[in-house]
Amino acid sequence: MPDTIVIAGAGHAAGQTAVSLRQGKYDGRIVIVGEEPYPPYQRPPLSKKFLAGELELERLYLRPERYYGEHDVELRANTRVTAIDRAAKAVQLDDGSELPYSKLVLATGTKVRRLGIDGEELAGVHYLRTVDDVLAIRDDFRPGARLIVVGAGYIGLEVAAVAVQAGLKVSVQEIADRVLARVASPELSAFYERVHAEAGVELLLGLPPMGSICGEGRVQAVIDGHNQEVPADIVLIGIGVVPVTDIAEAAGLPCDDGILVDEYCQTDDPDILAIGDCTNHPNSLLGRRVRLESVHNAQEQAKTAAATLLGKPKAYSQVPWFWSDQYDLKLQIAGLADPGCARVLRGDPAGRSLAVFHLDDGRLQAVEAVNSAREFMLGKKLIAAKACLDPGELADASVSFKEIAAAALA
Ligand SMILES: Cc1cc2nc3c(=O)[nH]c(=O)nc-3n(C[C@H](O)[C@H](O)[C@H](O)COP(=O)(O)OP(=O)(O)OC[C@H]3O[C@@H](n4cnc5c(N)ncnc54)[C@H](O)[C@@H]3O)c2cc1C
Repeated sequence: MPDTIVIAGAGHAAGQTAVSLRQGKYDGRIVIVGEEPYPPYQRPPLSKKFLAGELELERLYLRPERYYGEHDVELRANTRVTAIDRAAKAVQLDDGSELPYSKLVLATGTKVRRLGIDGEELAGVHYLRTVDDVLAIRDDFRPGARLIVVGAGYIGLEVAAVAVQAGLKVSVQEIADRVLARVASPELSAFYERVHAEAGVELLLGLPPMGSICGEGRVQAVIDGHNQEVPADIVLIGIGVVPVTDIAEAAGLPCDDGILVDEYCQTDDPDILAIGDCTNHPNSLLGRRVRLESVHNAQEQAKTAAATLLGKPKAYSQVPWFWSDQYDLKLQIAGLADPGCARVLRGDPAGRSLAVFHLDDGRLQAVEAVNSAREFMLGKKLIAAKACLDPGELADASVSFKEIAAAALA
């Protein structure tokens, strides 16, 4: 057993690693080093209930603060790992100190992709990744305020949903010709475009990139992609994230859209593992490498890394899944769809629930399910079982999905 396990980053994956290590009876030293001022917390509510003011800060925490003391996990908040000295097996911290490790786990997550235009530094212009980001956004949220959301991905749309329900005037500007273009099927995009429009959100799609943001100290307008000045009180930029690989790269660890790890979360260095959003890892079910931005992956890779560290390695093999909450709609997605898949729609696209099945030569690859928990749950099992489905049966809402799934799994 290693004497000291140091975890760089204090997000979801880091917290779960410490919990899994203690659950697995690891009795050595665990140190979590995180640059944020909080214990490991869940980010999904940040753009949902926490933004809406419906959830206390402490409810975000993965474990109550006292857990770390009670389980002898040292938590160094407000501290950044600045470098890894692989020869000495130690990390350098931004307080000037050095921390030796027997094993190091990199759980550095992602950081927001910057828009890189003039005016981003103005008050009222926000990105959303951390608790502190949301506290600042909430200060600006007032009924009647004009909010421009840049980017119609999950975070942009979740913020739009919260904001319009809070009485703000919301406009979403997107360069793609549909919302969720990078992550969802055209059917799902059309569904959410309708839902947001009905809620009063203005969707401007297919816009050239925004020119700049202007104002005297505080945002007053944006110059949009058509060179038009559009008044704004708040701008929220949600154009994706990039993996945090700086310390790994500087230490010579191979990275390619994330820190490269194997199915045991092991990097090229036998004493360094990596987990969560910052990794690029093989997925045997998909037959390729992926980098995922999802809580499920962060949790499961943390468990895999803990098993590796405990000397009981178990290869990571999971059907990826993700969710998003907007209005009264719970979207759950299992699997990763290839653009070449055939798509079968089940449900009423003009209603409040539907499912889109992605079939590769009949084999289920992914399912996007809105307010359709059964299609999601069974769909996940069918993907893992590499089951084949009949498109005609799937599309026919009069045929029970439970029966379709049972027959395919038999
Ligand atoms: C607003 C929002 C909504 C989301 N909604 C959903 C959702 O609905 N469903 C879903 O499945 N996923 C969602 N996600 C994604 C999910 O939160 C992430 O996949 C998950 O947090 C990844 O966990 P992680 O531990 O890998 O990384 P992170 O949570 O990013 O944590 C990494 C931590 O490491 C710190 N760090 C980085 N470098 C260093 C360093 N050198 N030294 C010290 N600390 C460092 C970072 O500051 C950060 O605190 C959402 C994310 C956001 C931001």
